[in-house]
Amino acid sequence: VSLFSRIVVATVPLVPKALVGRVARRYVAGETREEALAVARSMNELGAMATLDVLGEEVHEPARATEAVDEYIALLESFEEAGVDANVSVKPTQLGLKIDSDLCRENIARIARVAKDRGNFVRVEMEDRSCTDDTLAIYRDLQAEFSNVGIVLQAYMRRTLDDIAELPETGANVRLCKGIYVEPREVAWKGFETIRHHYVAALEKLFAQGAYVGIATHDEYLACAACTLIDRMKIDRSAYEFQMLFGVDAELRDLLISRGHPLRMYVPYGPDWYQYSIRRLRENPTVAMHVMRATFGMK
Ligand SMILES: Cc1cc2nc3c(=O)[nH]c(=O)nc-3n(C[C@H](O)[C@H](O)[C@H](O)COP(=O)(O)OP(=O)(O)OC[C@H]3O[C@@H](n4cnc5c(N)ncnc54)[C@H](O)[C@@H]3O)c2cc1C
Repeated sequence: VSLFSRIVVATVPLVPKALVGRVARRYVAGETREEALAVARSMNELGAMATLDVLGEEVHEPARATEAVDEYIALLESFEEAGVDANVSVKPTQLGLKIDSDLCRENIARIARVAKDRGNFVRVEMEDRSCTDDTLAIYRDLQAEFSNVGIVLQAYMRRTLDDIAELPETGANVRLCKGIYVEPREVAWKGFETIRHHYVAALEKLFAQGAYVGIATHDEYLACAACTLIDRMKIDRSAYEFQMLFGVDAELRDLLISRGHPLRMYVPYGPDWYQYSIRRLRENPTVAMHVMRATFGMK
């Protein structure tokens, strides 16, 4: 990343909210459940499943965590009537992890119970390193009680291969992504190629252990490496799915679907779109650069 890109990324929080809103439209389905269901349905029509995320994180009042639980339950209850093929993705800090990890576990369990009654599934997402141990402990607990709960592991974390070794022996369901938070070198690999290498090693280990894997990436190199592994290890189509973010690389999405790979689109929605969009902007200097150009009239 060039010095200029770094400066642009550092400046992102100064971008006017209205302008961030314009960029957000590309990545966020809207503020309401109805808008999210409509986007999920349009993804289904393209041959992709969906996972819906109610935007929000770092909740410090139990009542706000309960609001998020209620929205997730209403969402799960709406899928059938809306005719949408989707599951849900939840963030532990939105469900109270930073208040009390037992409260968070109970909140996720409430969502998982409703999902189980409906034959649906809950993906517990992975946030920054301060959450990793607690999130994995909650996952292990819930996995023992429910069969319809999965976790996320981040390939940039040095510990990930060890975490894979500790997964439940049966029924493990893991989304593997590079990782989006800015972590120090003590805990995370930093080199672009290093993270790719670790991603492929983690994916191979997950397949070898018989886990169901959500291969979450838009990196063509990794999509290609995953296809090669699937082929070489004779991984059945029922044992994995590709996962991509709504608004990113529709071409790769269509390519994977046309080759018969199961694929799920991540569709976030809700009034708390601002933090999410800022994170996406920080992550992708190219997008941030477009915003800067629009803001300051740069050529
Ligand atoms: C379905 C899904 C769920 C995720 N869940 C989590 C999670 O729980 N925890 C977590 O830490 N991270 C999560 N992530 C984010 C992930 O960790 C990465 O930060 C992100 O996906 C970018 O990594 P990449 O593999 O796409 O590779 P990159 O090398 O970052 O991207 C490859 C190419 O994709 C394009 N691209 C990637 N991201 C964007 C973007 N935002 N906007 C525009 N273009 C883009 C660019 O052209 C880039 O060159 C998730 C990602 C996906 C797809």
